Amino acid sequence: MRRVYGPVPSRRLGRSLGVNPIPFKTCNYSCVYCQLGRTTHMTNERRDFFPPEELLNEIRGVLEPAGSKQELDFVTFVGEGEPTLCKSLGWLISKTKELADIPVAVDTNGSLLYQAEVRNELAQADVVMPSLDAGTAATFMKINRPHRGIAFDTMVEGMEQFRRAYKGELWVEVMLVKGLNDSEDELLALKRRLERIEPDRIYLNVPIRPPAEPWAVPPDQEAIVLAQAILSDLNVVDITAEELGAFSIAGFHNPEEAILAIIRRHPMREEQVIETLQHFAVAGEAVQESLQQLAKSGQIKKVTYREKVFWLSEEARRG
Ligand code: SF4
Repeated sequence: MRRVYGPVPSRRLGRSLGVNPIPFKTCNYSCVYCQLGRTTHMTNERRDFFPPEELLNEIRGVLEPAGSKQELDFVTFVGEGEPTLCKSLGWLISKTKELADIPVAVDTNGSLLYQAEVRNELAQADVVMPSLDAGTAATFMKINRPHRGIAFDTMVEGMEQFRRAYKGELWVEVMLVKGLNDSEDELLALKRRLERIEPDRIYLNVPIRPPAEPWAVPPDQEAIVLAQAILSDLNVVDITAEELGAFSIAGFHNPEEAILAIIRRHPMREEQVIETLQHFAVAGEAVQESLQQLAKSGQIKKVTYREKVFWLSEEARRG
């Protein structure tokens, strides 16, 4: 199984090469909005899930060929779960930086930043993107459904501590979910926490892809405007719109392999699937035929979410 994929279009990072050091749905949260579905392997223990040398060889295989770096804005450690659960993450970041002069980002839930070891490892990255969706422990429990070993105050204090020492860019992502963290009180509590963390940017997001729980939907437009207003003294970037751009099919041998690998990590809108298949010169009826065959084999399924058609992995468990 390939652990390095893309580049994929990212609303925050441009064209990003994804590195996934974590097996499918291994996490210490089970967020209601998770696009990978419910967490099937809940753990708070850091370890190597795959041999680190194999991961590095895969990264090397993509970065070393001439010309491969030009089309990349970032190498991003992101997972089919939480990447800081990988014990060799720090080693992988430093080795990747030796391989190529491309900024490295880590997309994390930030839960383990209370550990000095994790803070030191992530300090080597150019951009660290933790999540913070709640200003109180009660809302944290409702949205992120963490492992019992993670306490809200400890988690947030870990982010504050990291900020004090970290020289790179800290971009906090806030996912707004209707009825959970979109009221004035919730947003004010969240703002108080964010002010203490002092991130360089805050990305305001909403669940644009099918979530783990069908009721975890974006707030109404008025609530998004309220959130923008409350957080306006901080450096807020609104990414509540869909990302544009094509998914790379480099390294895939046939359309089915490409579709399966991409949607495992990233549910795709139907038009993105069609665009991707067209790179293999699959057109017209053949596109639908390919999709129907994969659906019949039980590997992918079609869902409609907020009036848009998505294709996602059958492996993802949803409510
Ligand atoms: S959104 Fe991230 S932190 Fe939350 S359950 Fe999914 S992988 Fe884990």
